[in-house]
Amino acid sequence: MKVAVVGAGAMGCRFGAALGESGRDVTLVDPWLAHVQVMQRQGGLLVDDEQGTRLVKLKATTPEASTEQPDLIIVFGKAMQTERLITAVAHLIGPSTVVLTLQNGLGNVETISTVVPRERIVAGVTTIGTELLGPGHVRSLGDGNTQVMQVDGASGASSTTVLDAFAGSAIAVTESSDVATTIWQKVAFNAVLNTLCTLASVPVSALRSYPEFPNLADAIIEEIVQVGAAEGVVVDKAAVWATIVKATDPTMSGHHLPSMLQDLLSQRATEIDYLNGAVVRRGARHDIPTPVNTVIAHLVRLAEATRSER
Ligand code: NAD
Repeated sequence: MKVAVVGAGAMGCRFGAALGESGRDVTLVDPWLAHVQVMQRQGGLLVDDEQGTRLVKLKATTPEASTEQPDLIIVFGKAMQTERLITAVAHLIGPSTVVLTLQNGLGNVETISTVVPRERIVAGVTTIGTELLGPGHVRSLGDGNTQVMQVDGASGASSTTVLDAFAGSAIAVTESSDVATTIWQKVAFNAVLNTLCTLASVPVSALRSYPEFPNLADAIIEEIVQVGAAEGVVVDKAAVWATIVKATDPTMSGHHLPSMLQDLLSQRATEIDYLNGAVVRRGARHDIPTPVNTVIAHLVRLAEATRSER
């Protein structure tokens, strides 16, 4: 099976490497030229994990230079790149190409569906963590689970393509029975952890030091529950809170710096407009007030706008 990972940053590289190592014909497609050139020069991607560092042989190219039409495209840029990425590889999408997104945030499926019919889009979430150490070099941050579902609700050929692609690979993928809930609950998780760690400039476990953290998190999540309900999506507050408790456990991945904080520290744009910002916009469409998420989104944008003056 031919797979193109479009947006091969930390996660795209990790998923691409896992598929390449299990025998799939993988091409990493990314607009960051220096990253692509390093991978072309070294013949693939350097992967660090608990076994050490190894070179995984993979092809790498820019979107403009990519020519091979794959069976599966995995879009794995940041949410603000989705439109640019899917448009840049529109020439690779054939009549049976399936597109998978495991990106965080709201709106990725809608953007991809402007180019690909919904029955060929598979969406989901992953709790796997990965870090890009530099061009052509990625570090795995432990395992997690990955759930997917064909976005038209059918358990059809497109979800089978995705499950077949990952079968026998190091990444276990299961089929979700309600992908909208899964995606919104991950948004709620990120809308709490990513933003608060970014604003306080701390790792996730540190949030537990603030006695009011559960109340603050609850206020953010409650608005997301209401906006989700207006969009026909059930967001289970208890399920979101359970994932937050697990993630902030210092004996688990608690010392991890969320990607939003890493983006802020490295002068890159954050996904705030696709997390709390998207909840605020959708709330406004349904006349649902979202004062807490509005302020949180403002504070993150303020931190972004002023970071060069720190
Ligand atoms: P990333 O920031 O590593 O990569 C995204 C894009 O930015 C890629 O095109 C990459 O090439 C480019 N990029 C990265 N560093 C760059 C640099 N120094 N200069 C120029 N371009 C650079 O993104 P990611 O962490 O892989 O996240 C992809 C999606 O997956 C997001 O929606 C994210 O929220 C989600 N996600 C990430 C993780 C994680 O642990 N990283 C976990 C779960 C979900």
